[in-house]
Amino acid sequence: YTTAAAALEEPIKPPVNVKYDKLLINGQFVDAASGKTFPTLDPRTGEVITHVPEGDAEDINRAVSAARKAFDEGPWPKMTAYERQRILLRFADLVEKHNDEIAALETWDSGKLFEQCAKIEVPMFVRLFRYYAGWTDKIHGMTIPGDGPHHVQTLHEPIGVCGQIIPWNFPLVMFAWKVGPALACGNTIVLKTAEQTPLSALLVSKLLHEAGLPDGVLNIVSGFGPTAGAALCSHMDVDKIAFTGSTETGKIVLELSAKSNLKPVTLELGGKSPFIVCEDADVDKAVELAHFALFFNQGQCCCAGSRTYVHEKVYDEFLEKAKARALQRAVGDPFKSGMEQGPQIDSEQFEKILKYIRSGTESGATLETGGDRLGTKGYYVQPTVFSNVKDDMLIAKDEIFGPVQTILKFNELNDVIKRANNTRYGLAAGVFTSNLDTANTLTRALRAGTVWINCFDTFDATIPFGGYKMSGIGREKGEYSLKNYLQVKAVVTALKNPAW
Ligand code: NAD
Repeated sequence: YTTAAAALEEPIKPPVNVKYDKLLINGQFVDAASGKTFPTLDPRTGEVITHVPEGDAEDINRAVSAARKAFDEGPWPKMTAYERQRILLRFADLVEKHNDEIAALETWDSGKLFEQCAKIEVPMFVRLFRYYAGWTDKIHGMTIPGDGPHHVQTLHEPIGVCGQIIPWNFPLVMFAWKVGPALACGNTIVLKTAEQTPLSALLVSKLLHEAGLPDGVLNIVSGFGPTAGAALCSHMDVDKIAFTGSTETGKIVLELSAKSNLKPVTLELGGKSPFIVCEDADVDKAVELAHFALFFNQGQCCCAGSRTYVHEKVYDEFLEKAKARALQRAVGDPFKSGMEQGPQIDSEQFEKILKYIRSGTESGATLETGGDRLGTKGYYVQPTVFSNVKDDMLIAKDEIFGPVQTILKFNELNDVIKRANNTRYGLAAGVFTSNLDTANTLTRALRAGTVWINCFDTFDATIPFGGYKMSGIGREKGEYSLKNYLQVKAVVTALKNPAW
């Protein structure tokens, strides 16, 4: 990694300034009631970018009041669907116009590759908002035959004030997955950003107001989970919670809802997704896809293909090539063009990953390459590959959330199905095969919310995403996501003249 390591020592000056670093409540940028702030750091160096308000229960109260008023008094839920659609479409156009500025801010705050943000994530954000804008005037109920002289219909109404809590690994994309459907359905929102990445949400929210969003419809609170996050989940005036993050925190969120007002909760949680390379696989292509499935976004993906199961017939060749591929990976400043991997998000994740690497070696897996930090500054980790991994090792069971590929051998389809499913998670799975029967068998047998066949991380706005088992509750994206943000009202009207 020598060339890239040299680049790590001299961080490139970010081509962007921080314009907004407050809470957004009722259309105004404001300080926290307590006056407290906390720093947000550049993962390339650990240096402070800026300080943002440390919102807590008091700020959540203010934000919920604003969202409540905007819901109860309007105009947002009372606007015509077409008016809401035009605002969302104008917003998408504005984001497109500011593509590179938004991408650069995201890179600075999160360490994600600038090219990835500029070419994939911001365009995906735009696509998601255009997709949800399209739904605004296509949300409608049904007419239903009742068993009696009644006219029966359903009204699909917005659920109310939505609390949304997002993580740091895809700050903008998670914003779009949550805010897009909530707004399309006519709801109002209090969104808590992740403490590591508070900045990009503020910049796009400013553009959303420029596009015509009324004050109070979207409120943003930066702050920590146990204070601001927990206050949102416990709030009696919040009608719904959507959360993405760890399974451990997901359990707390559900508990806080149960202990307060039983608001419905959707959860998108962790994973330990299998990526299965079958005996008929073209090994070069399988290596490349398995590499992408794990290393994409510094390995910080809830659906990362983090258990690479390889058939024994192709195992040796696969291993040699997977190791060579990891060694080739260009790690360096995420603002530098041509990089494939930037730093991890923060020191906590960085230390956690290095601890898992030590645990892999101690438990008897073979460290093929990597295994240490890269450079002396920031949170860069060497692309790491373990072979001879056994299912009961911690590195094969826990979510590492870093650039650590664990390769396991299998010899029979039924055996790999059992092993792939033997996890508390069920978020996604990858299958690499050219045999249609093998693909069909695995697709049906794998207990996961998404199965990618000969592809991975394919995420269009239209495709539902969510987990089986402890990977979550509910689906986001696509038509399925709308029902998270709607109430169904049955309306039964007595008919005076049943014959007609
Ligand atoms: P986390 O689940 O603690 O944080 C996610 C969000 O939840 C953040 O906005 C956080 O402030 C908030 N939160 C934390 N505690 C809360 C509480 N008590 N009540 C309400 N909200 C709360 O995740 P983390 O600490 O950032 O990362 C830990 C691990 O979680 C990672 O190593 C990774 O394994 C996993 N993770 C998964 C995803 C995902 O996309 N599913 C995203 C980030 C992290």
